[in-house]
Amino acid sequence: MKRIVVLGGGESGVGAAVLAKVKGFDVFLSDKGNIAGKYVEELEKWGIPYESGQHTEELILNADEVIKSPGIPSTAPMVEKIAAAGIGIISEIEFAGRYDKARKICITGSNGKTTTTSLIYYLLKNAGLNVGLGGNIGKSYALQVATENYDIYVLELSSFQLDNMYDFKADIAIITNITPDHLDRYDHKLENYVKAKFRITRNMDSDDCFIFCSDDEITISHLDKIVMKAKMLPFTQKGEVKQGAFVRDDKMIVRYQDSECDMFLQELALGGRHNVYNSMAAAIAGKVMNIDNQTIREALSSFQAVEHRLEKVLSVGDVLYINDSKATNVDAAWYALECQTRPVVWIVGGTDKGNDYAPLLELAKEKVKAIICMGLDNRKIHESFGAVVPEMHDVTSADAAVKLAAGIAKAGDVVLLSPCCASFDLFKNYEDRGRQFKEAVRNL
Ligand code: ADP
Repeated sequence: MKRIVVLGGGESGVGAAVLAKVKGFDVFLSDKGNIAGKYVEELEKWGIPYESGQHTEELILNADEVIKSPGIPSTAPMVEKIAAAGIGIISEIEFAGRYDKARKICITGSNGKTTTTSLIYYLLKNAGLNVGLGGNIGKSYALQVATENYDIYVLELSSFQLDNMYDFKADIAIITNITPDHLDRYDHKLENYVKAKFRITRNMDSDDCFIFCSDDEITISHLDKIVMKAKMLPFTQKGEVKQGAFVRDDKMIVRYQDSECDMFLQELALGGRHNVYNSMAAAIAGKVMNIDNQTIREALSSFQAVEHRLEKVLSVGDVLYINDSKATNVDAAWYALECQTRPVVWIVGGTDKGNDYAPLLELAKEKVKAIICMGLDNRKIHESFGAVVPEMHDVTSADAAVKLAAGIAKAGDVVLLSPCCASFDLFKNYEDRGRQFKEAVRNL
């Protein structure tokens, strides 16, 4: 019997192990750290042998194939040993794709993945299709392939999930945009990160569709270097395209084959220029899936913002509090600032991932009346914005940040948490940061 070893006991690894078990393999799961309680229960429920706190080489190096969770870098010593032993290493997505006949719409990019994925899922559900949502979001894809029976999957794929994918093929692939992020995992080479993103288009042929942002310079310059067999469907806010989506006057226009759908930008449920991009990408996918224009319009105008993405929390004394905790890089924060029409008290900071704040200076100068730095090391923020923002403070908790912001903001202002940074210095993760912020706002 073929032996499959799964490295990593989180959502992805446990899903892969369950699928391997269902398909009749000899499965073993190994995690060097702790395995969370709910995953231990799942492994026990399915009778899957596992270990935590160590990697036992004799139980791993006898594998026929290894499924590596996306959080484990290829430079981890155990992974290097597996590779040196000549054992094939694949990702959960690659493995699950082997057993899935459903149509697959796959979304990657530096920013906007979750929003675009959720929009498309909502659109297809509203159209009455039998559709599953997975990848980096919710339940793992592999677990759903093992236990559900969908006709279509909408999958959010991070570049880590795309690594170790070989034969997997998307029917529709979307790259929302590419800005430098996570370069530490790619030898600090942008080219490697871009190539990892483009793996989403691997194996696609002329029946498949590639949806991309033609305003994104990094995407376009890579497209110049490769041969793309799939139908190319760009979306843009600069100029017009024959196929794909663009903006004319105050309307978004989507064209696919001989059919066209238009919609007033004002009707879009999600505000901000970045969400015009996300809505265009979703609408193109909808057209390719043959969804009627009315359903596309209704879905894009009734979608509720995903938690922690420019989420309006509350208005207190006519000050609007917005939770954009998921803005963990400069580009995301740029769009958050760009779409503000009221004076901003900006809560920013956390674990800096080598940020260059220069692209934000102009917007900060124009819109931000005060900065509240929420992080353990705020020097770079002070150095970057000290000359353009009149008031700056430091805090080390969401509660202190909100109280201070409430004191500074006047009626008509916005308090925006859009941190530009990761959250790990003060919080468990970005969700924890967003929830603490919302809790503090509700306690005002
Ligand atoms: P991801 O899943 O790629 O991290 P999200 O949809 O969760 O993307 O959004 C992450 C952050 O990026 C949020 O702050 C959001 O407002 C911002 N954002 C969303 N879409 C875009 C886009 N198309 N371009 C730039 N920033 C975006």
